Amino acid sequence: MENIEGVFLQKDTIKIIANEAIKHLPKEACGLIGAQRLSDGNINLVVFPVLNKSKKNNRFLISDQDILLIQKRCKSLGYSLCGCYHSHPKGRDIPSTKDILCASKSNLKVWAIYSVRLNRLSIYNMGAVPIKIEYRIE
Ligand SMILES: [Zn+2]
Repeated sequence: MENIEGVFLQKDTIKIIANEAIKHLPKEACGLIGAQRLSDGNINLVVFPVLNKSKKNNRFLISDQDILLIQKRCKSLGYSLCGCYHSHPKGRDIPSTKDILCASKSNLKVWAIYSVRLNRLSIYNMGAVPIKIEYRIE
């Protein structure tokens, strides 16, 4: 997705992420993000929770099968798959070195990270140096 400057989330979207994050403690929760560019140029992001396939509490892993499935669902709803979200149960809402490495191998570049401890969500355009994407709630 080119020029991601301003995006917005529905109020429910953050609630979904926060609820999933708490539900899956002590593990990380994760899911995929779809984007839809509206006629006014704004980008609306939606989330699709998926099961974290990692056995470790401080990692997340989304299966290729889930990616394909959600990609299809996104398409049928008029969204394009652009990223993923996951929670940091104890950490801050910033990408870890592992996250940056993982994003470099993926074509999903919009990453949302929710810190359970801080109850805070940040969205990044993931490059070697992740850039924070500002968002507003509607
Ligand atoms: Zn992480």
